[in-house]
Amino acid sequence: MRYDDSPPSPESASSVSPDRRWFTRRSGLAVGAAVLAPTLLAGWVLVQLTTGAGADDARPPRIVMPAAGPSPTPSSSAAPAAPAAPQAKGPLAGKTVVIDPGHNTGNFKHTSEIDKKVDIGTNRKECDTTGTTTNAGYMEAEFTLDVSRRLRTVLEAKGLKVVLTHEADRAWGPCIDERARIGNEAAADAVVSVHADGVSSGNRGYHIILPAKVKGGAADTAKIVGPSRDLGERIGSNFARTTGSAPANYLGSGTGLVVRDDLGGLNLSTRPKVFIECGNMRDAKDAALLTSPEWRQKAAQGIADGIVGFLGG
Ligand code: ZN
Repeated sequence: MRYDDSPPSPESASSVSPDRRWFTRRSGLAVGAAVLAPTLLAGWVLVQLTTGAGADDARPPRIVMPAAGPSPTPSSSAAPAAPAAPQAKGPLAGKTVVIDPGHNTGNFKHTSEIDKKVDIGTNRKECDTTGTTTNAGYMEAEFTLDVSRRLRTVLEAKGLKVVLTHEADRAWGPCIDERARIGNEAAADAVVSVHADGVSSGNRGYHIILPAKVKGGAADTAKIVGPSRDLGERIGSNFARTTGSAPANYLGSGTGLVVRDDLGGLNLSTRPKVFIECGNMRDAKDAALLTSPEWRQKAAQGIADGIVGFLGG
């Protein structure tokens, strides 16, 4: 857990890859690697566990190479192909999921850029917002990126193609219209925008935001209202199951579902899409959950289960 405001560094975000590259490059020493790998891996996992800070716990270690096992025949001089991602079977085959980590840890340093209005079809609205924080300063944008990365890991293990709209690898944004466009251009089969709410203490629980039927300018949600509700209901029930959280006690009449017509990310989507507000960062009890990596893993699992169910898997 961490409470500082520093954005996750790009280095820490890619911290897994040097280890994987190490194994890949030394293919000629595959037999040696087979012997050494468990030792090195154990050391590496230990390091991960003992440092355990910052964005590193955003993605549980992906122990891909040792699980796949180096080839016992050191015959090839070329680097072996990266271990194949699991191939989705049945209804999940060929499906794409776009995950949108709400806000950006850099937004608060770029208020003039994110305050610029963009066209959401039915209206004009700020490009993006800073999001909220816990009272101790854990940023919503940190939370959303962490859950999104965990969600990606779970979905990729099912063989799904996963696209994130950003990984705080840009200074700010994307704007809400671009976030919608990324889902549309990926022809996503499902899109989920991950958020946490920032309302007064005592308000607790999760809710899913579903697109209203709107038409205006580039916005026309007629075709996505039905499937988005299905997606949202599945995510909500699975999220409740895996996290033990209750539907929000402050809106949605206890259903955990809210329909809104004022969100550009929903209005401009042509693909089934929902937002999830995972809890209230300003409530101490909810904040204790939101700042727990273990709880965030359960949250990601619940969202993933809902998506997979929606896709028929
Ligand atoms: Zn938000």
